[in-house]
Amino acid sequence: MTTATFPTIGIFPSDTAVNPSGHLAIGGCDVTDLAARFGTPLYVFDEATLRTRSGEFIREFGSRYPEVTVLYASKAFINKALVRLFAEEGMGFDVVSAGELAVVQAAGVPLERVYFHGNNKGPEELRLALEWGIGRIVVDNFYELATLEALGAQRGRAQDVLLRITPGVDPHTHAYISTGATDSKFGFPLATGAAEQAVQRAMALPHLNLIGLHMHLGSQLFETEPYALAIDGLVGFAAQMVRRHGLDLQEFSPGGGFAVQYVEGRAAPAIGVYAQIISDAMKQACAAHGLSLPRLIIEPGRSSVARAGVAVYTVGAIKDIPGVRKYVSVDGGMADNIRPALYEAKYEAVVANRMDAPPTETVTIAGKYCESGDILIAGLHAPELRPGDLLALPASGAYCLAMSSNYNASPRPAVVLVKDGAARLIRRRETYQDLMQWDE
Ligand SMILES: *Cc1c(COP(=O)(O)O)cnc(C)c1O
Repeated sequence: MTTATFPTIGIFPSDTAVNPSGHLAIGGCDVTDLAARFGTPLYVFDEATLRTRSGEFIREFGSRYPEVTVLYASKAFINKALVRLFAEEGMGFDVVSAGELAVVQAAGVPLERVYFHGNNKGPEELRLALEWGIGRIVVDNFYELATLEALGAQRGRAQDVLLRITPGVDPHTHAYISTGATDSKFGFPLATGAAEQAVQRAMALPHLNLIGLHMHLGSQLFETEPYALAIDGLVGFAAQMVRRHGLDLQEFSPGGGFAVQYVEGRAAPAIGVYAQIISDAMKQACAAHGLSLPRLIIEPGRSSVARAGVAVYTVGAIKDIPGVRKYVSVDGGMADNIRPALYEAKYEAVVANRMDAPPTETVTIAGKYCESGDILIAGLHAPELRPGDLLALPASGAYCLAMSSNYNASPRPAVVLVKDGAARLIRRRETYQDLMQWDE
């Protein structure tokens, strides 16, 4: 098997090649065989890339900072097999709903390794989380503080919590995935004084055990400077809280948001670059304010899974509108990947069954759903595509299936995990019967 040399290869899983038949191969599996066996659309996850990536986070941060916990932000894509795999690699989990918590629990992971986030966790979700013995709850607002205190009082036990603080730093990413500025639905703003009130309130509540502070600036942050700025500000705030209110800062989280490369040209910083900036900023700020180093909690979501996943579609109808555009439609689209329609996310693609065909024209890759905005790739440089060709979109592991829907009553795709030439189905394709199972 030869390693592919086509330009987009760096965006594919590490275990990607072109085999002697000229087909794309991932984890030693020929993608045309996978498509024939499991159907399309199909999401292929490469096990080696998933494991390498988690190991990299643990190593790069762990070698630069004394005590580190890496949590997989499971909203990027959650599945029981994936949870077990990440747990084996030593990761904990960040969940944003009781549903995600239920999946982690069903996968058999001890819930002390789980942190619960979200700007409006329901009372029932919180009750379940406490009953199931969740490790930490990251409290977002005053209503949640009150709800948790009441639940803790009923149970007669104190819960470990962190407070999510909005540091007032603009991370320079798409507005829909920016969360660190003061105008945000997430967290207690530092700028308004709400953050200090929250610390005082939490410390006064007998059934809450405040052990740390958390922030999350947004997603797809190519710049590292916002982390340094925000850490500096938030550690300064923490030091004030230690002096004024006796806060015991055991844990500190700068969240996730590490960028991923989707298209040619703009490479994302290596994990080591983020690890260096974050640990330097922590050490400098803690030293400047006379604090001992708290445990560092890192929450990579997108950057843990995006590159490991490849979406495979079959080409169907082709519509050439002379002088306007050539539409090439595939058998999936916004129901399995809404990112291009939602925030103009960009993708590359290759023809998995004809990897040696040189690109000759620029086409628009359209989804099959009944929205004109259902366009997966606005301008793809490709060989002349034919019905039946297999189009593979790299970097499809994060926030695609996680945001998938049954729009147009479409069954969701199957998901396979590939390794050493073997493919394991980790989620079966939905059936038409599945679509009706809740109807009367
Ligand atoms: C979504 C989220 C993350 C992960 O963000 P990525 O950009 O996927 O790394 C981490 N922490 C919190 C609190 C989040 O909401």
